[in-house]
Amino acid sequence: FQSKLPNVPTSIFSVMSALAAEHNALNLSQGFPDFKSDTKLIELVNKAMIQGKNQYAPMPGILNLRKIIVEKTEALYGVSYHPETEITITAGATQAIFTVIAATIKKDDEVIIFKPAYDSYEPSIQVFGGKVIPYQIYPETFKIDWSEVKKLITLKTKMVIINTPHNPSGQILSKNDMQQLAAILKDTNIVLLSDEVYEHIIFDEAQHQSACLFPELAERSFIVASFGKTFHNTGWKVGYCLAPSALMEEFRKVHQFNVFSVNHPTQVALADYLKTPNNYLELGDFYQQKRDLFLSLIKGSRFEFTPSQGTYFQLLNFKNITSEGDFYFAKRLTKEHKIASIPISVFNQDNLDTKVLRFCFAKTDETLKKAAEILCKI
Ligand code: PMP
Ligand code: GLN
Repeated sequence: FQSKLPNVPTSIFSVMSALAAEHNALNLSQGFPDFKSDTKLIELVNKAMIQGKNQYAPMPGILNLRKIIVEKTEALYGVSYHPETEITITAGATQAIFTVIAATIKKDDEVIIFKPAYDSYEPSIQVFGGKVIPYQIYPETFKIDWSEVKKLITLKTKMVIINTPHNPSGQILSKNDMQQLAAILKDTNIVLLSDEVYEHIIFDEAQHQSACLFPELAERSFIVASFGKTFHNTGWKVGYCLAPSALMEEFRKVHQFNVFSVNHPTQVALADYLKTPNNYLELGDFYQQKRDLFLSLIKGSRFEFTPSQGTYFQLLNFKNITSEGDFYFAKRLTKEHKIASIPISVFNQDNLDTKVLRFCFAKTDETLKKAAEILCKI
């Protein structure tokens, strides 16, 4: 048997969470909240189950949920998608990403991705014989030189993948970035996969620059989102994909044989819960307070940082502490100091080690205080 993915290890998120559990360490590695989802939302799921919404949902998701997401997208970005033909509910963003790639990438197609990159993109491309064309974002500034990106485009380029707000860096793409990307893709057949799972977790009054805001991008974009990030329930694995109907038709051809449909009672509950926009509009302020608390508490430590602009992740540079490799240091911190994080090299091209660890601040204030106490002693 010949492996299709001979060089793909177990995801770093599984590795670090398991190590945290083994050593009874505070787990700020894998990105998930350590506090509960709103009781009202949980009650809505219970209600849906009791009402008998326990059989297959329609293949693209229940219409009420698709409609309310489309209304939310229109209210936020002024862009309309058709609820019947331009949105599909997915089993989290991971499935949406995999399905987009499955529906579009053939052997030898090239896909431009920005490194550091979320770990699911690359193996998903490789499974379908696609070739990853990386652009390493300069680690100190996280600025993209779009003229360099343009040079990576060939006749084989099939897709570009972007992610804003960006995991793991916590940086966001500006309007200018999106306009430059639009200029590059204009007059090509290249598809854009825009991973916007942290769209509501954005700080300091910044505006999320969704791909749907730029007509030249929207017409070629699959936009993916995840309720796990927005409503503090990563374990429910419900998300969605928006795309113009011709692209969505291809997406659904795969989706129907990939999962067919997604958990039914949670869809019923989410459709109701989304009727209250404050349930997601206040998320940026909520996490900004957590970011600010965490950063104020570790100010006196030997870690260096630039405040995260979005997501619930903060990068900390440890070059003043040790010259150890980031993976080794992350493991040692977990075992000896009882705090787990994610080494960034695993997301970089050629595992470039910039002496940076990622910490998840989607945690109670109490957990953040405990974490800061440890980090200040290192
Ligand atoms: N994309 C990014 C950038 C993410 O951070 C995550 C979650 N870690 C996902 C996709 C996957 O989201 P989900 O849990 O909904 O599958
Ligand atoms: N998105 C989460 C993170 O970046 C983890 C998702 C996963 O465990 N696959 O930490």
